[in-house]
Amino acid sequence: MSTTPALGGAASGFRRMWHDLESLGLDDETGGYHRFAWTREDHDLREWFAAECAQRGLDLTTDRMGNQWAWWGDPDAAVAAGDPGVVIGSHLDSVPNGGAFDGPLGVVGALAAVDQLRHDGFLPSRPLGVVNFADEEGARFGVACAGSRVITGVLGADRARGLTDPDGVSMAEAMQRAGRDPATLGRDDETLARVGTFVELHVEQGRALVDLGHAVGVGSDIWPHGRWRVDVPGEANHAGTTRLDDREDALLGLAAMVIAARRAAEQEDCVATVGKVHVVPGGVNAIASCATGWLDARGTDPDSVLRVVAEVRDVVSDFDGLVTQESWTPTTDFDPALVRRMASRLGDVPVIGTGAGHDAGILANDGIRSAMLFVRNPTGVSHSPDEWASADDCLAGIAALADVVTDLAGAGA
Ligand SMILES: [Zn+2]
Repeated sequence: MSTTPALGGAASGFRRMWHDLESLGLDDETGGYHRFAWTREDHDLREWFAAECAQRGLDLTTDRMGNQWAWWGDPDAAVAAGDPGVVIGSHLDSVPNGGAFDGPLGVVGALAAVDQLRHDGFLPSRPLGVVNFADEEGARFGVACAGSRVITGVLGADRARGLTDPDGVSMAEAMQRAGRDPATLGRDDETLARVGTFVELHVEQGRALVDLGHAVGVGSDIWPHGRWRVDVPGEANHAGTTRLDDREDALLGLAAMVIAARRAAEQEDCVATVGKVHVVPGGVNAIASCATGWLDARGTDPDSVLRVVAEVRDVVSDFDGLVTQESWTPTTDFDPALVRRMASRLGDVPVIGTGAGHDAGILANDGIRSAMLFVRNPTGVSHSPDEWASADDCLAGIAALADVVTDLAGAGA
């Protein structure tokens, strides 16, 4: 099958929906988006999603975390028959100053795929769901994929409720203000049982498809990744009167760590990033008494990633620093048979891994048959206003999604 868009049902709806969302949460100065969980913008996005689902006659439900699921067909009848549904979708929230595509392409694309399937006269042999996951980016409370982590139980309800945003507002309070009851949080077996297969369409967050010259690719796995906190001690003192020999400058240790991480990542063919640092006391004319940095390291091979961290630990120990692991996620493989089936259905498409986490990975780790489709991003940039995909490529992604659904939920599937 070709991924050339059959423009019938999807194109005009896609353009209209994209236009609807364009100004929502937009920062006019930067051109980026601020769409954080359980805020006014998030509320408007959820209302928009509910209205689009109602327009299509899809039955909308919310789970224990407030993720929105809209069904074409009866998901519970399918569960009772032992043949649960196929779900497509993604998330509508963003990182601070995020791009327009990360998340919304998968939700808008799923709705447009429904339009395309109906235009084609498709009748699902099992229910088709469209999901809008809540709080995927973790931009407000610091835990990515909070929506899928809570309903799979990976993120405990008490811990989730107690997470706070930079203003000290807890997730429980934020949900309450948004009209949701935080007491409902927890693993949601009823919701998960309805999901036989999950396919998430997403803008690519790197340059693999650009270099390969393809508009669409099938995701095979999510790289192993982790976060480590690095604390380096020092001694606060005067920037003018303390001789260089007499200093214990915490920031020097942290700087060595940043360079070491970069070098080790190059050697190990990984990626390593220190994008957040905290310096105490933080004065221009004061020597740092304590410097903390957060290391994010990822790669295709878990052992290589851990060797990068070991190298960082080595360098930091020379400065009496401490490295603490905050999270570690091993390789997440999407369902190999599903990946093969999608790739052969779509024909000549690359199968690629990704360094970014997704709700599809959380569901896969819960044992749900899951995979992803990626749409080419010519800038290769993501989590920034420069993130981009052409309308033609988005439509190719939607056509591929509709094609995959036809295969997975069609007659004889
Ligand atoms: Zn995303």
